[in-house]
Amino acid sequence: MLKPTQADLSPRVYGHFINGALSVPSANLIDRYSPANGSLLARFSAGTPKDVDDAVAAALKAFTHEGWADLSGTARAKLLNRFGDLIAENAERLVRLEAEEASKAIRMSAHELVMVVEMTRFAASLALTAKGEAHTHLGPEALGLVTKEPSGVVGMIVPWNFPLVCLFQKLPYALAAGCTVVIKPAELTSSTTLEIAKLATEAGIPAGVVNVVTGRGAVVGEALTSHADVSMISFTGSTAVGRKIGGKCGESVKRVALELGGKGANIVFADADLEAALDGVLLSFVFNQGEVCAAGARLIIEDSVADAFVAKLAERAKRIKVGHPLDKEADMSALIHEHHMNKVLGYVAGAKEQGAVVICGGQRLSGDTYDDGYFVGPTILGEVTADMRVFQEEIFGPVLCVTKFKSPEEAVHLANSTDYGLANGVWSKDVDKLLSTARKLKSGTVFANTYFEGGVQLPQGGVKQSGFGRENGLDALHEYMETKQTFVKLGVRQPALAHTIA
Ligand code: NAD
Repeated sequence: MLKPTQADLSPRVYGHFINGALSVPSANLIDRYSPANGSLLARFSAGTPKDVDDAVAAALKAFTHEGWADLSGTARAKLLNRFGDLIAENAERLVRLEAEEASKAIRMSAHELVMVVEMTRFAASLALTAKGEAHTHLGPEALGLVTKEPSGVVGMIVPWNFPLVCLFQKLPYALAAGCTVVIKPAELTSSTTLEIAKLATEAGIPAGVVNVVTGRGAVVGEALTSHADVSMISFTGSTAVGRKIGGKCGESVKRVALELGGKGANIVFADADLEAALDGVLLSFVFNQGEVCAAGARLIIEDSVADAFVAKLAERAKRIKVGHPLDKEADMSALIHEHHMNKVLGYVAGAKEQGAVVICGGQRLSGDTYDDGYFVGPTILGEVTADMRVFQEEIFGPVLCVTKFKSPEEAVHLANSTDYGLANGVWSKDVDKLLSTARKLKSGTVFANTYFEGGVQLPQGGVKQSGFGRENGLDALHEYMETKQTFVKLGVRQPALAHTIA
């Protein structure tokens, strides 16, 4: 069988994007090889603290001296809409680049660019309607004004699993708020971030408003986090790195938003539409090879229907097509890199040692399509208990852990029994049960009778070790703004220190 060709035959070589233009690539490059077939896809400049200084200086100048912060909401909205239009016009190419570099089945990932455009247009609408408050009931001689001001230069640090979606849950909102940004994409998946930075300039967004420095987290990410002229860090990534970043921001009293890991559960009650639940549960752990922070990595299923449900789920899982990112028939593709694949398989081996049963999958795939890549098919583990590592820890692969329950209380207790709190699902036709369960789940998102659906209007984020801060919705705009009160005394002010007046 012929392997699909890569999107761009010669590897792309990039510099950083600073002050409206791509710089000359540095001598020190980071190579990105396809995890699906080993071909060289792109070479990114390994940034230094000096590159970060340059990018922050450009962003600060655009913020303070060149008027981005003072532009009217109408003007910012117009530029954001133009930016969204250009992204839409370039979507096909961006989808291919993203699919190859982040290893996504292209059929499943095309929607990501649709979301990116939607988020940009929604942020434009927020720029247009952003407003403060006037307090007119403070007495006849007082007026209170509550105004929102852009925070300043925002450092954005993003992961490899959804390079553009994770970025656009931040970028257009920060721009709508009037901030300027320096982005540190993941070292494996920087192409689309650099490409959209070029589009931002083409859309007319002034030089210095959007900057990108590529490279390693320990160098570029740390330099950005500790930079004195960066007012806020918005981070999406692992809880371990988030904890470090949060600590550093705490030391310098810098604003920080942390979108971290997750360990989502789908609670399926016996009275659910089980057909719909089968489809939703399957999607929730195979989408993007399970490399999703909000994945439904655990199935918590009512005992009376568990065995039949899981047998059907395994049948369907075996029909999932795993293939090259550009194979239009594929549902899933390779894991992001070899080390990560070994980590995922290590979790499966560990679960077996602890008494779990592999119902399907659990191995690296082999054969013509798979031999040069890091492919693992949908994996279902039965007999999983709450004390097992696979139940507690984020595996970040296509692995579902199945645990049975007998009462609604037990179901909620199990779902809440991890350190994470990002997303959970609940399935029942009984609306009381559905909503009372949703209310008791400790997570920033609950999907009820579906999974991975929503709208840009709805804020999302984590609780517990999944972080804090909200993206999308009106909350996303306010993330990048400081609230100020101005108290105005009207009329004649009575002296407070009358005895000091001669
Ligand atoms: P990661 O934490 O290893 O890296 C994320 C980013 O941080 C990368 O750009 C990396 O270079 C940078 N980084 C690494 N060390 C740093 C440091 N010391 N200082 C500053 N920056 C540093 O995460 P990953 O492996 O790229 O992504 C997977 C993780 O991201 C998973 O845990 C997943 O759950 C999480 N994630 C969360 C969400 C969400 O919305 N909550 C979304 C997507 C991914």
